[in-house]
Amino acid sequence: MPNYKFAKVPSAGERIGYDGGVLRVPDNPIIPYVEGDGTGADIWRASVRVFDAAVEKAHGGQRRVHWMEVFAGEKAYKNVGDWLPQETVDAMQDFRVSIKGPLTTPVGGGIRSLNVTLRQVLDLYACIRPVRYFEGVGSPMREPQKLNIVVFRENTEDVYAGIEWKAGSDEAKKVRDFLVSNFGVEIREGSALGVKPMSEFGSKRLVEMAIRYALKHCLPSVTLMHKGNIMKFTEGAFRDWGYEVARTRFGESTVSETDLTKGGSNARADAVVVKDRIADSMFQQLLLRPDEYSVIATPNLNGDYVSDAAAAQVGGLGMAPGGNVGDGLAVFEATHGTAPKYANLDKINPGSVILSGVMMFEYMGWNEVSALIVRGIENAIRSRRVTYDLARQMPGSTEVSTSEFGNQVIKGMGS
Ligand code: NAP
Repeated sequence: MPNYKFAKVPSAGERIGYDGGVLRVPDNPIIPYVEGDGTGADIWRASVRVFDAAVEKAHGGQRRVHWMEVFAGEKAYKNVGDWLPQETVDAMQDFRVSIKGPLTTPVGGGIRSLNVTLRQVLDLYACIRPVRYFEGVGSPMREPQKLNIVVFRENTEDVYAGIEWKAGSDEAKKVRDFLVSNFGVEIREGSALGVKPMSEFGSKRLVEMAIRYALKHCLPSVTLMHKGNIMKFTEGAFRDWGYEVARTRFGESTVSETDLTKGGSNARADAVVVKDRIADSMFQQLLLRPDEYSVIATPNLNGDYVSDAAAAQVGGLGMAPGGNVGDGLAVFEATHGTAPKYANLDKINPGSVILSGVMMFEYMGWNEVSALIVRGIENAIRSRRVTYDLARQMPGSTEVSTSEFGNQVIKGMGS
């Protein structure tokens, strides 16, 4: 077992392995977790009880997770003097599957978002965000149950790569001069500048993961969401590379929407349909015809917008889970922030971390555990004993604390 200075490796438990492209999960895996800042402690306390109860219920004593706390964010800064200690990154790499609560991003002072750093350092190239409706949750939509999608957002490139220069800086001036003199482009003097890198490698591996997911879960379609009508060589290329991956790697099991419409395809009847939509139209489509979409693969910025917008359609961020996934490596996380005004009040909704746990157990192949937790959440909502955010959208419900909502989920798993 590796040695860490601050984190304590549990005395029992084994590491998850990765061999030949397949995750090898022992019955007693060690899973690192970051509690998270602000409301993180309240949420983690409730969530871990749900996870342990579900594993126990599904497998008796046969399987058990050995949790290992690792530090990041305010807790790390206070105890160790570092917002993101290297050993936390190492532990996430060594143990392969981990879960985290929200982390504060200190504003100013040149500190990069811890979340963005983790994704880039560990090359967690897909941000996976399933969005589905839970019956009974208040929603602004008339038929929120029609939305059931999984967004695969590219996590390492695009304007999020962090390559930008401040207006008036020497760097911005140099880059502008270079572009103006070499390419004759017009850029207003004194502009801030940013770079939008999008590679064939990065785009193709993301789309490949999305198609594999659709095939594994027998889902009907993968939609490439892009803004290629305007940004032809970045977003347009994303679309073209996406279709190319579908054609060359999954020719037998996918069919393009165009081929399907022409009726001339030789693909199997159960083939996954690969289609594309312009980003702005995609937002309209999700509002007007949500049931025509299933898996969405998209570059970084589009993915950020569309996953939050879709979450709002089904009742908000408190119930939106996420996973950052690479090859044989994954960090699951709440998609909301630290909501500091509710810290230590035992008030906030733990649903996002609990559902991130559902994704984590699915990723590990512990599907029975995931199914139990989903059932627990469905029944907890049905009981109408929910946290404040859900209660304010559910007339006639009773507001309960974070910990009590956790109890409701455990109860909802059944006896
Ligand atoms: P936020 O923490 O997500 O909170 C904004 C609002 O969203 C809350 O006031 C609350 O709304 C609602 N909300 C968030 N989480 C909820 C939950 N679990 N249950 C119910 N309602 C929830 O966003 P922020 O205030 O912009 O950001 C605060 C800090 O979090 C910042 O430092 C930011 O950088 C960080 N952040 C971290 C992550 C991450 O770690 N993945 C993501 C985003 C932001 P009401 O007040 O209406 O109840």
